[in-house]
Amino acid sequence: MTGTTAQRSMFHDMLLGWYRMARRDLPWRRTSDPYRVLVAEFMLQQTQVSRAEPVFERFVARFPTVRALADAPAAEVIRAWSGMGYNRRAVNVHRTAMLICSDHGGMVPSDEETLRTFPGVGRYTAAAVACFGFGRRVAVLDTNVQRVLGRVNSGLMPMRPSEAWRLAEESLPKDEPSAADWNQAMMDLGATICVARAPRCGGCPVRTTCVSADIFGTAGKAWEPVAVAERPKTPVYVGSSRYYRGRIVEALRSVEGSIPIKELAGLVISGSGDEAGGRFDERIARLVDSLDKDGLVRFSRGTVSLP
Ligand code: SF4
Repeated sequence: MTGTTAQRSMFHDMLLGWYRMARRDLPWRRTSDPYRVLVAEFMLQQTQVSRAEPVFERFVARFPTVRALADAPAAEVIRAWSGMGYNRRAVNVHRTAMLICSDHGGMVPSDEETLRTFPGVGRYTAAAVACFGFGRRVAVLDTNVQRVLGRVNSGLMPMRPSEAWRLAEESLPKDEPSAADWNQAMMDLGATICVARAPRCGGCPVRTTCVSADIFGTAGKAWEPVAVAERPKTPVYVGSSRYYRGRIVEALRSVEGSIPIKELAGLVISGSGDEAGGRFDERIARLVDSLDKDGLVRFSRGTVSLP
């Protein structure tokens, strides 16, 4: 963070002191097994903690090692991903496990550069696995941490990702033995107190070192964005291609073997409120084609199945 050495030190002490009392007890924090950390980080890329928790427990019980995951058929992995959404991550974590077994002797690599060569692993996921799975001293920046850093350091000014990463790296306390504790403390603050719409500044442990505390006011007073440009409209989800891609995969999870595409369209449309007909069938066919290219389904001779 910016500010004097004394201010930085105060910020570190206050945040870590709070974290040691208030840390969230999450299943992937009860292990330092790099494989489990890797699975958790794939899940957390686009899914909230509360939704990921039960799926994570089931998933690692079903595939307890990287080898077990690599050896499983893709269809089984996609079935086990049920409830998470963004099914492409199931294909990516499966392919990553296969690469770890084929190219790295079944050991999850500890360095970020190698981790980033795996499908679906970006800077955040690689840093999280290196830090939480191997204890490496690296910064981990997710949206919660980015929000906290932005508010603590620059008020309402938007930050570019490169600037946020630089700040996250600078914020790592030099005298804190556990980088994992620090990164998780930042994440917990962003997830539970410095939340997006109405930060609870009145109960915030770093309030006295935060340049935004006075802008946002005290607890109980809802914060409304003031200097932030007009928010982009949230795209409509129901009826979108992403929505129907999810429904197609969900329908196939309950199908043993393959199913004619016409029947699949019937399964997908039931309860959707859409009108059946040639145009809907054509749309489903196009989406099945794209899912096939992504490795999420197999489409052959007019029938569809999980891969
Ligand atoms: S004082 Fe408010 S804005 Fe600053 S870090 Fe705490 S919750 Fe966030």
